[in-house]
Amino acid sequence: MGPMAAVAQMAGPGELAPCPVCGQTRAGGSCPNRWCRRADRGFSVVFSVGTHRGALRQAIARYKYQGEGHLGAVFAGMISNFVQREAGWFEEFDVMAAVPTFRGSSARRGWDPMGELLARLAERLPGWAVEPGLLAKRVETPAMAGRSWADRQAIARHELRRSLFVPDPARVRGAQVLVLDDVFTEGSTLREVAGVLRRAGASDVAGLVLARPGWAPTPPEGRPDG
Ligand SMILES: [Zn+2]
Repeated sequence: MGPMAAVAQMAGPGELAPCPVCGQTRAGGSCPNRWCRRADRGFSVVFSVGTHRGALRQAIARYKYQGEGHLGAVFAGMISNFVQREAGWFEEFDVMAAVPTFRGSSARRGWDPMGELLARLAERLPGWAVEPGLLAKRVETPAMAGRSWADRQAIARHELRRSLFVPDPARVRGAQVLVLDDVFTEGSTLREVAGVLRRAGASDVAGLVLARPGWAPTPPEGRPDG
């Protein structure tokens, strides 16, 4: 089964058809994520283990911003169970990588949350080619959280695009790459990651995240589409 078909099957019986890219459901219109509607988004689909709300949302914030690294074991269990349960969705992928954190002396963060999670996944998913270090950042980039769409776009297209690189393109050439991140918001980060991987020769890039925005069966406050 191809990744697009896989995401289309994420809806349960009786639910509305989900977005074929990110799996969100919305009545009477296209996906609220702008990149999902654009052919130049760079990534094919995004697989999400859960919804970005409640206890999961709090746990992700504690892991990333309050240094509660022990939660990595919980997240690794959730992700590995998801990947094993839905193995058919993932059989076409060759490599699993992670959205990188800058590790130089001016780094904002003293550790690499997604890199450590990827290392835990390597232990739990022995059949996978899990590749820490497949992607890296040359320099620190501004934080995306809490910023407007326009600011996130500008950071992604400028600072993030200049910073991201693939240290060893031979590991990427021709590969279908699954990229781990914590939260899929609208795909600005994943789009840049996909761009650098494709320029290095990757044939497909998809996302695997702990959480994405909540299901939206009706447009919020009657807002028109787009
Ligand atoms: Zn979508």
